[in-house]
Amino acid sequence: MLDTLGNLKRTHYCGDLRASDAEKDVVLMGWVHRRRDLGQLIFIDLRDRAGIAQIVFNKERQPEAHAKAEQLRSEFVVAVEGRVARREKANPEIATGEVEVMASRLHLLNTAKAPPFQIEDEVAATEETRLRYRFLDLRRPRPHHNIELRHRVIFEMRKALDQMGFFEIETPMLTRSTPEGARDYLVPSRVHHGQFYALPQSPQIFKQILMISGMDRYFQIVKCFRDEDLRADRQPEFTQLDLEMSFPRQQDIFEVIERVMERACAVVGVAAKGPFRHLDYKEALRCYGSDKPDLRFGMELHNVTQFFEPARAVLHFEGNVQAVVATGGASWSRKQLDELAEFGKSAGARAVYTVKVTPEGVVSPLEKNLGAETLKKMAAELGARPGDLIVAAAAKEQIPHSDTSLYVAGQLRLHLGDKLNLIDRSKWEFLWITGFALFEWSETEKRWVSAQHPFTGIVEEDLDKLETAPWECRSKGYDLVVNGVELGSGSIRIHRQDVQARLFKALGLSDESARQRFGFFLDALTYGTPPHGGIALGLDRVVTLLAGEKSIREVIAFPKTTAAVDLMADSPSAVDAPQEDELEILAAFAGLSAKNWTLAGYCDRLVADLDQRILSQKLPAGSDFQMAMTLIVAKSHDDARSVIRLSKAGYGRQAAGLSRSLVESAINSAYIELDPAKHAEAFLKSINESKRRLGRRLKPHASSEEMKEAVRASEEAQKESGWPPMLRERAEAVGRPMYLYDVAYLMLSQILHSDIASAAGSLSEPETGQYRLQIGRRNDWVIQALATCFMGLYEIVRISYEAFDFPQERIASLFAEFERFSKALDPSEVTQ
Ligand code: ASP
Repeated sequence: MLDTLGNLKRTHYCGDLRASDAEKDVVLMGWVHRRRDLGQLIFIDLRDRAGIAQIVFNKERQPEAHAKAEQLRSEFVVAVEGRVARREKANPEIATGEVEVMASRLHLLNTAKAPPFQIEDEVAATEETRLRYRFLDLRRPRPHHNIELRHRVIFEMRKALDQMGFFEIETPMLTRSTPEGARDYLVPSRVHHGQFYALPQSPQIFKQILMISGMDRYFQIVKCFRDEDLRADRQPEFTQLDLEMSFPRQQDIFEVIERVMERACAVVGVAAKGPFRHLDYKEALRCYGSDKPDLRFGMELHNVTQFFEPARAVLHFEGNVQAVVATGGASWSRKQLDELAEFGKSAGARAVYTVKVTPEGVVSPLEKNLGAETLKKMAAELGARPGDLIVAAAAKEQIPHSDTSLYVAGQLRLHLGDKLNLIDRSKWEFLWITGFALFEWSETEKRWVSAQHPFTGIVEEDLDKLETAPWECRSKGYDLVVNGVELGSGSIRIHRQDVQARLFKALGLSDESARQRFGFFLDALTYGTPPHGGIALGLDRVVTLLAGEKSIREVIAFPKTTAAVDLMADSPSAVDAPQEDELEILAAFAGLSAKNWTLAGYCDRLVADLDQRILSQKLPAGSDFQMAMTLIVAKSHDDARSVIRLSKAGYGRQAAGLSRSLVESAINSAYIELDPAKHAEAFLKSINESKRRLGRRLKPHASSEEMKEAVRASEEAQKESGWPPMLRERAEAVGRPMYLYDVAYLMLSQILHSDIASAAGSLSEPETGQYRLQIGRRNDWVIQALATCFMGLYEIVRISYEAFDFPQERIASLFAEFERFSKALDPSEVTQ
């Protein structure tokens, strides 16, 4: 029987009891951390937010309470009334160790299931289990401490900013795309069919508008949402301390942040004192090979290319050679040096060279190439002393206008600093990095993109180069760095509309698309915009460092995994089948009718089936047939998922384009099935060989001749493999009534490659005249195409089941359902 809380009032936190509380009557509440039953006496450790107190139940003195305490188990929730007494023997391990509470009454407020792991600081459970049971994980002292610390840090920041005249102002969460350049999270609007809100990647535009509104000083502790590629230290939603001020000099913004960081650091007793050091971006790269250098140790980089120049041909290196002097590294063993070389290569070094400096001279494999004299000269110039190891790395330029050898040597510097224990872990080396380039070249987009975001100010003297030499423009941006970690970045902004328009142009953004994306902001800029600037700090990172944690997940109450999954809430998740009144929401997905939604549902389940039955199995890969089928299934699975996502998001056309590859997979699998051994071998050969050849020939900056040659070689490899190059050939060989595949393939090709289909209203296949497709300005083709894909998918699944001996009946019911559905489609739109 459980007791009620009734009118019982807690007097103390368990963890707060001290010797000075002796003889006080107290009421404590919390969780049973541990229970020891000695017969006459039962001890429990009672735990709450503040810590642990020992409670004693004495059978003789308080038989009733003692009897009740016999039922207690870990994590039961109780209230205890009793008197504080000094312990005969204090326990120095815990803060309350000098006292214990002699219980007079026990109230059992709730029971608990046995937790999947002990609520202790040291926990053996995996991070996955911890996150799944985050409510239990958060009961542990360390996460508790981290969350409390986070609160204190934020509170200090708020106080500091308030004192400096900043207003905390909220900005919308349902808004439109902001300029940070990651992918947006979108939210469909129910009221405005086919339209979406975007979750903000940052409040950037709004905070600038607040300056236009005369708010003068704004800040916000704010969630930002970026759908980026996942990395260990990233969360899809994260928190920033975001601020902006009007009429600032760069200096003023730095001072504000220095004050804020001083106060935040003081929370953990770290004395951070402004003004922080300044370092020019180029200088940081030159000296430390990083734009976020760790200054807790020296070991600056030296360009030693001149010493290596005579042996360039013999040593086969390209680009520059950068060296660092590693104190104490001369004693490193062969094995350690090999590991170092491996590390360097994985960081992008063409080669890693080492020179040991000993009292007798220099020892190095380079001696035969460069000569002992040169090495000695180099050692002298670098100031290397006996016991030191000179480590040099060469790397060829990978990104235009940047010296890769610097980055590589920067990595080696960090690695050596760590391995040789040269980093003073008690130091907090804050610094400001300035002098960034305004643009960086994007290899993927083949154009200049904003190094930060497109509202970053431009150094006045460089304005003229905006159109002529964009790569030389310096920005008014800055980064705050501590101990090798970038804490945040900001800038003095562009506040003139004409400059902003020129910048958009330099970025290749047409007037129209600039208007479309940022029109309201460009407009606002014309109504008297004051000079302004600001910064945003990554709050999760700040707290992680202050807490001495490695991962930001440790300082976020409910973090997502590196795969962007909330294991506790189990999100993201599929939504329930749409109800009648929800259909309105679905209508927001442009071009998808309720029927299409059903189709996406089918596809969902098929993918789930592939997941469950095939992809999660350890597939035998003994024969070519199995290998080929495995590849096809895995690829189809990926494609099908993308099709679902695209079609649900209203990108019907793109989804259809992608469906082509599903159709192709279906045909391929059927074709392979005709002669499993031979065709599978041809298939594998065709993909492997041509990939290999392409890979070998395609240099990073291949000329068009080289490209042609590579493509030719790969085509040749294709031919040699015996795999029919045309899909049509394979489909025909299958011989079954594959017309639907063919039709869909043709149709989707047309749709993908041109807009003719939708414009013309009908389409015929000119060469053979076999097909007459009625495709108007309608979406019916989506249904047909998707239906085809399911057919294709079904084929893939069926064949894989056969190939891997899985029971067929598992998918039979699914297929029956599908057949019923596809019969309901109107076939008159697609005729042969
Ligand atoms: N909004 C920028 C960011 O999140 C920071 C800033 O420029 O203030 O990176």
